[in-house]
Amino acid sequence: MAHGKSQFAVWRCSKCNTAIQTTAYNKTHNDVITKEVKKFCKNCREHVATKRKDAKKSS
Ligand SMILES: [Zn+2]
Repeated sequence: MAHGKSQFAVWRCSKCNTAIQTTAYNKTHNDVITKEVKKFCKNCREHVATKRKDAKKSS
């Protein structure tokens, strides 16, 4: 899964700014990169729009 040149993305709640989910995708095969997805925020206890923020993870 997360091998090589994986780009990590953190999804943050647009309301409380809590990191909801971290996903990884391959930069060479990034067909569709969504910028905003509705996810459930445990903090707000409702579905909110989450914004993607790319994060570098070198290991
Ligand atoms: Zn929230």
